[in-house]
Amino acid sequence: MKKRVLSCIQPTGEMHLGNYFGAIKNWVKLQEEYECIYGVVDLHSMTMPYQAEALKNNTLQMAIELLACGIDPKKSTLFIQSLVPQHTELSWILNCVTSYGELSRMTQFKDKSNQLEDGTTSGFVSAGLFNYPVLQAADILIYRADLIPVGKDQEQHLELSRNIAVRFNHQFGDYFPEPQPLFTEVPKLLSLADPTKKMSKSLGPKHYIGLFEDEKSIRKKVNKAVTDSGNEMEGKMSAGVKNLFTLLKAAENISDYDALMKEYNNGTLQYGKLKAVVGDTLVSLTNAFKERKKELEKDEASVHDILQELSAQAREIAEETIQKVRTLTGLPGIKYR
Ligand code: AMP
Repeated sequence: MKKRVLSCIQPTGEMHLGNYFGAIKNWVKLQEEYECIYGVVDLHSMTMPYQAEALKNNTLQMAIELLACGIDPKKSTLFIQSLVPQHTELSWILNCVTSYGELSRMTQFKDKSNQLEDGTTSGFVSAGLFNYPVLQAADILIYRADLIPVGKDQEQHLELSRNIAVRFNHQFGDYFPEPQPLFTEVPKLLSLADPTKKMSKSLGPKHYIGLFEDEKSIRKKVNKAVTDSGNEMEGKMSAGVKNLFTLLKAAENISDYDALMKEYNNGTLQYGKLKAVVGDTLVSLTNAFKERKKELEKDEASVHDILQELSAQAREIAEETIQKVRTLTGLPGIKYR
């Protein structure tokens, strides 16, 4: 039997190259080897200030973009979190085996609540934001997933999910497998405008390249990429130049990567040339995605059908878990008429 992999992404609107190369490209590959369950976690997006209409649009957009990137509905169960209400039910039960102290120590909560309290927003920090890691544990445990692809930034959350599983098993009987991390070598992309920072949408449009951004805009951002900050150590490749090489490698243009690296090592590389090649590579890679996205957008009704059907498949697994959890925790089983 194939091991079960679970991974989720928040509907943040347009996907950027960091998301694709750092996560989604790997999701597509994992489909070949594992039973993959992938979620668009709209409930998590409610933990920060948001607009209802935007959430609805972003959820559909993220699902379409995942399909355009190669998530195959015949191979993977791509679900919308809120269409599987068992996540929230399990989350409540798990809240009762999670301590206030361990949630207070989550660095993401500290970061995000600081962000909300920095004076630029209403300063409202919801209990949902505090409880977010428990819902994340429920996302994993509801499918009794074996493996979770994680980056370094998510290790603490997976650790908490494991602790919650262990505590539940100890109190109510061995039921949940302890989810294990699936470490994969993925590149970390930096902002082209400021290569001291991670590529991210929260920094503003010049700091990321959208996977579905138009050709002209991609080239413009690459051409403007910061290469030397002026205080590099002699003989050491600057973070900006390294980032451009990372992009070439991530896009699997190895022949140009090797040739340009040779020029760099010889001291003959012109950054204009490197940028032109990176621009061409990204444009040809993303054109194929854009085509597929356009096709999917033309037939939105079919996308809705796919998402409903796959979410129903997810519900079947989740329902089996929740019934068992109800029995173990002393809650009555539900008899559906
Ligand atoms: P986020 O919406 O920022 O949480 O990102 C979703 C996923 O994309 C996470 O799994 C991140 O690891 C990945 N990701 C985001 N930004 C980058 C980046 N600059 N480089 C590599 N991976 C990234």
